[in-house]
Amino acid sequence: MFDNQTYIGRFAPSPTGPLHLGSLYTALASFLDAKSQHGLWLLRIDDLDTPRNIAGATELILKTLEVFGLHWDGSVVYQSQSTKYYEEALQRLELSQLIYACQCSRKSLATDGPCYCGEKKLDLTLPHAYRVKITPKTIAFIDQLQGLISENRVDQTDFVIKRKDQIIAYQFAVVMDDHLQGITHVVRGYDLLASTSKQIYLQQLLGLTTPHYMHVPIIIDAHGFKLSKQTLAEGVDLNRPEQLLYELLGLLRQNPTIALRHASVQEQLSWGIAHWNPQALSDCQTITWA
Ligand code: GLU
Repeated sequence: MFDNQTYIGRFAPSPTGPLHLGSLYTALASFLDAKSQHGLWLLRIDDLDTPRNIAGATELILKTLEVFGLHWDGSVVYQSQSTKYYEEALQRLELSQLIYACQCSRKSLATDGPCYCGEKKLDLTLPHAYRVKITPKTIAFIDQLQGLISENRVDQTDFVIKRKDQIIAYQFAVVMDDHLQGITHVVRGYDLLASTSKQIYLQQLLGLTTPHYMHVPIIIDAHGFKLSKQTLAEGVDLNRPEQLLYELLGLLRQNPTIALRHASVQEQLSWGIAHWNPQALSDCQTITWA
């Protein structure tokens, strides 16, 4: 889609509510990283998990990014437009016998132990998920902030890539989406670090390139809880973006100058791009916001 680009980054919010401070923090980090390297910054709305989508959330997310000067390149991409590609890739994996249908329920897995559906003949007219077969293999990668991550997948269970409700699971969708958009750099929250080896595992099965990864800290409140839609973190205030942006630059440990405090959104972002130093967040997993 974008030829000859050495940096294509993205922000991929789910439309499950307005952007809260934690998600705006991640958006800003990924924007600054892309722009400081003259890269493209794409916006994808991760809208596959339809039962969790909230009406109006996408519009609010776009509006918030605009108010904070985080202008994306190209047009907004919606996961729901890529269903055909997910299904094609799924069929390829099935033909190569790398995935299998599964009719276990969460309850049966908890009480009866691991799934053996791969060894059984199932009635496929009944609801079923698809799981990827895990073969012993170590997945290692270098995260730009968290360092060397090495995970031995031997003791991991086969994970679901298409859910019983027919929805493509996050791990599989994100791998296909990043591939379809030609993403070279993924900057996202530390809470997704644990998913990365699963995603690299899938990239290797599908013969796709692995992007660079950088997992930035997540914002926690004074009680140690992650700010998230689940904890009903509020959407950010759109009335004073300068003030919040200044605070976010501080939370990103970029040491914004005092003079910047009253600067416009555009001036703050230009400063942020020119001075972007992600290493200030090295080995950092959480930042407290009180
Ligand atoms: N849509 C995911 C979320 O909002 C993020 C996906 C990703 O960055 O890989 O948590």
